[in-house]
Amino acid sequence: MTRVGVIGCGTAGATSAILLARAGCDVTVLERVAEPKPIGAGIMLQPTGQAVLARLGLLDPIATRGARIDRLWFRTDRGRTIVDLHYAAVDREWFGIGLHRGLLFETLYTAARAEPRVTVHTGCDVRNLRRDDSHTFITCEDGSEHGPFDLVVIADGAVSELRTTAGTTKRDAAYPWGALWFVTDDRDAVFTRELYQIGVRAHRLYGVLPTGKGALSSGSDTPVVSLFWSLPAHEVEAWRAGGLEAWKAEVRTLDPRIGFVLDRIDSHDQITFARYRDVQMTRWCDRGVVFIGDAAHATSPQLGQGANLALVDACVLADCVRVSPTIDAALELYARSRRLHLRYYQKMTRWLTPFFQSDSRFLGWLRDWTFPIANKIPPLRDHMIKTMAGVCTGFVGRRFELPAAPKVGPMPSN
Ligand SMILES: Cc1cc2nc3c(=O)[nH]c(=O)nc-3n(C[C@H](O)[C@H](O)[C@H](O)COP(=O)(O)OP(=O)(O)OC[C@H]3O[C@@H](n4cnc5c(N)ncnc54)[C@H](O)[C@@H]3O)c2cc1C
Repeated sequence: MTRVGVIGCGTAGATSAILLARAGCDVTVLERVAEPKPIGAGIMLQPTGQAVLARLGLLDPIATRGARIDRLWFRTDRGRTIVDLHYAAVDREWFGIGLHRGLLFETLYTAARAEPRVTVHTGCDVRNLRRDDSHTFITCEDGSEHGPFDLVVIADGAVSELRTTAGTTKRDAAYPWGALWFVTDDRDAVFTRELYQIGVRAHRLYGVLPTGKGALSSGSDTPVVSLFWSLPAHEVEAWRAGGLEAWKAEVRTLDPRIGFVLDRIDSHDQITFARYRDVQMTRWCDRGVVFIGDAAHATSPQLGQGANLALVDACVLADCVRVSPTIDAALELYARSRRLHLRYYQKMTRWLTPFFQSDSRFLGWLRDWTFPIANKIPPLRDHMIKTMAGVCTGFVGRRFELPAAPKVGPMPSN
């Protein structure tokens, strides 16, 4: 039986563990956090990510607690619509799901632990890989060694320390801007059905995402909503040192509906600042080792694809392992299968982010004049919707299709 070691039990790690086990592998997952908890804010599950969850049999529990999103509506502070993208304009079956990251985490984590042939070890901070002629061993901070493995899946997230040692990183930079976020109850369902954003040139970005009913472990069925506020990292300290009232007034002026959310904030400590990285590797795979998810290609959340790309990576990897005669062949097939899709989203996110989060007056101005025109031209508008849905592989060319469930049985041992 093929022995697989998975490093990290986040979105990519847990999903690949479940699907590789179902492909016939014996899987050991090593997660750094001793007692992983459902933390984070609202994230968007696109049709691509939903398809993978459906393959896992986990879409229903997530959709039941998620919030259906039909539209992305982005306006300026003067009320001018910059883009108004409805999934249904391209495909009536499509929609997004706004959900708490914690719900996705706890659903996948619970499923991974329950999966036969998956063993999850927590509190294992992986530090190193060691290779002999044909296998890889994983070393943790406490000196323990796990293995031998025929395949090691590195899914340790955007700040992957193992990526640094792999020597195949082309770009690994923190974006100068990040976002403050806050999640709270929206008992009266004030915010529904849309991801709503307001931009003031490129230097202010306000966003609000219906986030479903939160994580299961919250024990509550009340709808929650996530508030996002863009800020350069170097201004966070000044923001924390300042009073909250001036900031609240600025947010309330942009969207008076948010008042009840702001009324629940009485300390800066209730608000988390998240930074993101831009990661590009020259190669994701090498001799029985593969990087997937944020570890391989972290981006800013501008296009809302992070968790979706991680889910697709894991699904494609398991399918490649299932249909290939050897691990080397599976990794070659994986790299080929993921190249176009990942390259498109990495490039688009890198290119678009400064239009929404930067000090550039010019880019904000350019966005406000050109995007509304594109939004009115059906082929361009449809392309933006497909990009949002996660199915593009380029400006032209084939739509990314999730591979159909493989028809062949589990792969033989290497
Ligand atoms: C705490 C947290 C909060 C987040 N909140 C949001 C959010 O609100 N909105 C959003 O869009 N995205 C958020 N993200 C990012 C989003 O979850 C990811 O883009 C997406 O899920 C990709 O998943 P991933 O599995 O590649 O990485 P992650 O989900 O980051 O998972 C990586 C896992 O690897 C583990 N790990 C790291 N280093 C080691 C090590 N050395 N040894 C063993 N295990 C290790 C981590 O503990 C983690 O469980 C958050 C990520 C984290 C970790």
